[in-house]
Amino acid sequence: MTDCIFCKIVRGEIPSLKIYEDEHTLALFDINPASEYHTLVITKKHYVNMFDIPEAESANLMRTIKKVVTLYERKLGLKDVNIINNSGAKAHQDVFHIHFHIVPRISADPLGSPWKRYPELRAKFAEMLERLK
Ligand code: AMP
Ligand code: ZN
Repeated sequence: MTDCIFCKIVRGEIPSLKIYEDEHTLALFDINPASEYHTLVITKKHYVNMFDIPEAESANLMRTIKKVVTLYERKLGLKDVNIINNSGAKAHQDVFHIHFHIVPRISADPLGSPWKRYPELRAKFAEMLERLK
């Protein structure tokens, strides 16, 4: 896609700090990091998000995520990490080219938990399961 910022990174039209690259995917530092080594894993082809991406390409992304996490474990001693994908505007996706965030967590970092929990939703479990049939 011509105007997509991540497609421009893949084409080398704007700079990035690459951590890992293979035929299908690229891992790079997030320009606005939430923690040290905050990394994005993107596909080289343009897909919008998890609704759009073919299954095989999603497997390519997960393979690269595993490689990067293993690299950080080996080189940095990393033991805690959040792996996050935002798909869709209501899920706070800002760049509409699929990407996973790898957010390393060190003890005592200020990020907190990504979610508030709503235990009252347990009351809807039966109804929720029914809709999946
Ligand atoms: P999301 O809100 O999940 O769509 O995340 C988009 C992410 O892309 C944000 O964390 C941005 O900081 C990051 N980002 C935007 N432009 C660039 C860029 N040129 N290089 C690296 N990361 C970027
Ligand atoms: Zn793109």
